[in-house]
Amino acid sequence: MNSSDDRQLLIFDRLKNIRKEIGDASLIAVTKYSGVEDIYFAHQGLQIDFGENRVQDLKEKAQYFHDKNIHDIRWHMIGHLQSNKVKDLLRIPNLYAIHSVDSIKLLEELLKREDEFEGFDLKIFFQVNTSHEEEKSGFESIEELKAAIALLLSSNTKLKFYGLMTIGTVRTEEPEKEAHRCFKEMLELKRSIETEYNLTGLKLSMGMSSDFKIALQYESDFIRVGTSIFK
Ligand SMILES: *Cc1c(COP(=O)(O)O)cnc(C)c1O
Repeated sequence: MNSSDDRQLLIFDRLKNIRKEIGDASLIAVTKYSGVEDIYFAHQGLQIDFGENRVQDLKEKAQYFHDKNIHDIRWHMIGHLQSNKVKDLLRIPNLYAIHSVDSIKLLEELLKREDEFEGFDLKIFFQVNTSHEEEKSGFESIEELKAAIALLLSSNTKLKFYGLMTIGTVRTEEPEKEAHRCFKEMLELKRSIETEYNLTGLKLSMGMSSDFKIALQYESDFIRVGTSIFK
């Protein structure tokens, strides 16, 4: 066995262990610290959902697999998105979802440019800043979030309101307690939005390597894990 085989087995093993813990939730393998070889190994381990937080990296990695005729990958944009990168993002092959729509202005830009997107529907998560940490993106005000939801629901578009995303508090003395607070708030928010807009099946995207087990207690549908798979 060479070291590349070892690496592949390690990734298989980690994927298997995480999947065992998450039941029906979906695992997004976050590849922001990983090269295409690791992504390829994970894909060989039957992983199809991958997440990136920079448009340029996502573009390069998605293009690499597209050129290799691997089309059963679903790319998730999970990082802060600037309006001037929207066009590039929408053109990326096999783009599946954007988890980080964090303002009405960004939503308007996406709606304006949606023809760049070749697929049938693009899943949109609104990011909510439950941690209220300043450097974090996400809607701060529920009013603005609701205005964005209303705009998306009333638009005739390929962009589909799919769910809500959050990142747990990073800088805290009590990470577990904070994670419980953030994720509980999200579950309650999801339920109240479903009721208000008469929707069912909205998804929650929450939980990373350090806190996904807590996120699952609050019905997370998509956990985004990088370090625990690839480090
Ligand atoms: C990096 C990142 C993750 C994964 O974090 P890990 O701690 O490496 O599991 C999840 N979500 C977002 C938005 C990220 O930027």
